[in-house]
Amino acid sequence: MTTELVLLGTAGAPMPVAGRAGISAALVVAERVFVIDCGRGSPSAFADAGLDFRRLEAVFLSHLHADHAGDLPGLLLYPWGCRAGDDGPLAPIRVYGPSRPETVPEGDAIFHRETTIHPERPAPGTTDLVESILAGYAYHLNVMPLDARMPDAGALVRGIDILLPARTQGTAQVLVFDDGVVKVTAVAVTHGRAVPALAYRFDTADGSVVFSGDTTVNDDLIALAQGADILVHHVADLGYLERHGFSGAALERMAALHTDVTEVGSVAERAGVHELILSHFLPAEPDAITAVDWAERAGQGFSGRTTAGRDGLRRTLPRVGR
Ligand SMILES: [Zn+2]
Repeated sequence: MTTELVLLGTAGAPMPVAGRAGISAALVVAERVFVIDCGRGSPSAFADAGLDFRRLEAVFLSHLHADHAGDLPGLLLYPWGCRAGDDGPLAPIRVYGPSRPETVPEGDAIFHRETTIHPERPAPGTTDLVESILAGYAYHLNVMPLDARMPDAGALVRGIDILLPARTQGTAQVLVFDDGVVKVTAVAVTHGRAVPALAYRFDTADGSVVFSGDTTVNDDLIALAQGADILVHHVADLGYLERHGFSGAALERMAALHTDVTEVGSVAERAGVHELILSHFLPAEPDAITAVDWAERAGQGFSGRTTAGRDGLRRTLPRVGR
């Protein structure tokens, strides 16, 4: 058996940029495919990577900002036609992610929303999102089966909210699932007012891969990532943002959302991971900062291997010589 990581997209922030797709990754465990975040271009990148849509088993959303979930409708709906076997529809694609927050996040005097969209449910969670996708595309799901043989739409997808334990219970980690081959564990991370936001750890017989999601430096993430083979961690260059127009409260908010390039190496060191792979770059433009520059600066203070991720990057576990 092998476990393979594929970076499908490595851009941070919602604004589309040329030359880098939005944040998304796949973990292929003995031909079962798990997708972590579903940003801009994820379905196309999935195809470009040679992955099989029939093998897509589950999607894990770190949080519900659009740059992490915006192409979920396409990932579910485009390959719908192939989601059937000899015995009928394949098992539904499971979409795991944050639940609705207990309270709707509010801003402060400088940053606040004006119109509240959909006030009757202003902060929907993952199952709400999946239901909304099905409702919004009901035309396609109800009408296309009249002109083409399609699998039962009722078997296409299941949304599953991840409920976090109360911190008083002693551990911040929650077991998402464990089927004896793949074990997925999550913790809440700190991403400004995007609450809840999650990081995920995948353990297989081949090794372990952790996805930070978007977070500031977070002790629970460091605990989750202990001894992992690979930590895929988002990275921001706040100094670059400051030199390109961010200042004052705007820069402070960015620092409350992200891990800076000067901090991520010590996160990897404290976690004791083997390889740090950078992703979700901010700035996202590939020519803003070179891969060598990202890796050199991010690797400060980390004794393992640091790699600047790029769309299409692959890693196979178990590691050679492990
Ligand atoms: Zn993001």
